[in-house]
This record gives sequence, C-alpha cells and structure tokens, in this order.
Amino acid sequence: MSDCLFCKIVDGEIPSTKVYEDEFVYAFKDINPQAPFHAVIIPKEHILNSAADVTSENSAIIAKVFEAAAKIAKENNLDKGFRIITNSGEYGAQSVFHIHFHLLSGKFLGDNLINV
Ligand code: AMP
Ligand code: ZN
Repeated sequence: MSDCLFCKIVDGEIPSTKVYEDEFVYAFKDINPQAPFHAVIIPKEHILNSAADVTSENSAIIAKVFEAAAKIAKENNLDKGFRIITNSGEYGAQSVFHIHFHLLSGKFLGDNLINV
C-alpha cells in the first residue's frame, strides 16, 4: 500500500533497525520503545489492516508472525519471557493500520496488562 508507513519500512523507503527478516515477515526496533527490548513484527505484505481483519483465508500469516516472534526471542536471549501486543482500532489505540505485533521484554513488565 503506497501510503503506508510500515510498507515504506519494508521497502526501505523509510529507514529502520532490522531485528529479523524472512520471506513473509519483517521486524524492526520501535522508534519509541516502551521496554528495554521493543520490536515491531509485521507481515511484509499489507494483507491486513488490523487484527479485526483476520479470517480463515488470511490467518496463516499470523502463524508466520508468531514463528518469527519465537525466533526473535531466542536470538535476543529473552529467556525470562516477553509480551506480545497488537492494537486494533480506536479503542485499541492503533496508530499504524498495517497489522503489527509489539514484542516487549528486557524487564519484568508488571502484573497489569494495561495502564488506563
Ligand atoms: P500502534 O500504536 O500499535 O499502531 O503502533 C505503532 C508503533 O509504530 C508505535 O509504537 C510507534 O512508536 C512505531 N513507529 C512509528 N513510526 C516508526 C518508525 N519510523 N520506526 C519504528 N517504529 C515506528
Ligand atoms: Zn502497509
């Protein structure tokens, strides 16, 4: 999608710090990290805007994202664990509408899932 920030990152039009790449998935450091380790994992193709668009026809890419997440965790020694978050829509506070998953770690992230 031509006007999408994350498509531009995949295409290299906007620079990013690569964390992981394979045929289907790209991951990069979040520009505004919310934890000592904060990567954004995305399907390379703009198949879905958000988690609200997942169907039985397109859900295979979500498995690819989670396979990548497990590899990233191993490669970066996130042995003590991590958290994966996907924001969807207005109430989810989504700001980029190319589906993506935040992989957070590097410290204990707290017992509360969200701060409101
Ligand atoms: P969300 O708010 O869930 O849509 O997440 C979008 C994320 O993209 C935010 O955490 C931003 O900090 C991050 N972000 C925005 N622009 C860039 C960029 N140029 N490079 C890396 N991360 C970015
Ligand atoms: Zn996109």
